Amino acid sequence: LNRNLAGFGTTVFAEMSALAQRTGAINLGQGFPDTDGPEAVREAAVRALRDGRGNQYPPGPGVPELRRAVADHQHRWYGTEYDPDSEVLVTAGATEAIAAALLALVEPGDEVIALEPYYDSYAACIAMAGGTRVPVTLRPSDGAFVLDPDELRAAVTPRTRLILLNTPHNPTGTVLTREELAVVATIAQEHDLLVVTDEVYEHLVFEGEHVPLASLPGMRERTVTISSAGKTFSFTGWKIGWITGPPELVTAVRTAKQFLTYVSGGPFQYAVAEALRLPGSYFRGFLEDLRGKRDLLATGLAEAGFGVFRPQGTYFVTADIRPLGRTNGVAFCRALPERVGVVAIPNAVFYDHADAGAPFVRFAFCKRPEVLAEAVARLKAL
Ligand code: PMP
Ligand code: GLN
Repeated sequence: LNRNLAGFGTTVFAEMSALAQRTGAINLGQGFPDTDGPEAVREAAVRALRDGRGNQYPPGPGVPELRRAVADHQHRWYGTEYDPDSEVLVTAGATEAIAAALLALVEPGDEVIALEPYYDSYAACIAMAGGTRVPVTLRPSDGAFVLDPDELRAAVTPRTRLILLNTPHNPTGTVLTREELAVVATIAQEHDLLVVTDEVYEHLVFEGEHVPLASLPGMRERTVTISSAGKTFSFTGWKIGWITGPPELVTAVRTAKQFLTYVSGGPFQYAVAEALRLPGSYFRGFLEDLRGKRDLLATGLAEAGFGVFRPQGTYFVTADIRPLGRTNGVAFCRALPERVGVVAIPNAVFYDHADAGAPFVRFAFCKRPEVLAEAVARLKAL
């Protein structure tokens, strides 16, 4: 194994889903919905397959219909303008977008600031690019995980190249406010940093609003924004993602992307183009459905004795196991399937400072209400 990848074993999501399969436990670990996305979008994929649209290599940057739909989506929701030809790139999910962006923009020795806890692929992709990650820890305060602007400022050094942001934030459920984003923007501009911002949960904000960093003054030209159809339309298996950004950055990311997958998911690209144009009622319905599920799980976890960080966004709840008399989330999650038949993810795996994450565990609530209710009933027996 390449020395850069030393220490990166199997991703926690694969490990915990395998554990769920082996034990027959309810899987609230890996974040994927247990119901399919909209029928009209599935039908659009079937039509594309049947009519031979996308069955051969689609264009490298993505099919024009999808690039235009992405640009229109950014304008419709956030008022930002992107040219579909030079400022949009379709990727194999957000995962490839993250990898391609970091491989394209980070040089060996560069430092990349990432909010800790961070989504696991960030660390691996920074390492593959030869960069050094510099975690800025979100601190628990008043039932939420909060960014300390001073810690962010203090993390910048002459070697810092890029800030890797994620809002709404997995696993904490934190949604950065416009004021917090303004601090990020100021720091990026003062130190001439690039920002890659992972906004895959953009349509899952229960409190407050999703503000794309690129919509702040002076940020468009230094920001690569990432999103994906997996979360917004409940098609995590399709792996259709995209980036938007200024032409130089999109061209750079495309250079890396073309040697990773070149292209992927032809027929699905046409279907996602239709999905992005769904009426507001779809997006509202999706949000309200997940809000109900969040409330069900967050309330249930509190009743079961956990400390609960009620998320402002995403489809994850982070819970504190200390009120249950436990302190080690990794040991807790390893034993949980055998003890009560539920799988969760220990947040410690998303930290460099594992101690800071030790007592926290993450539960996904993108599951049918009866599944959540059964999980809660089992957890109450702990
Ligand atoms: N970023 C974050 C924060 C995620 O939670 C996920 C997946 N759940 C991804 C990226 C990957 O998205 P995709 O499945 O589109 O590759
Ligand atoms: N993003 C999903 C999660 O956080 C899982 C993605 C994956 O399995 N790599 O659970």
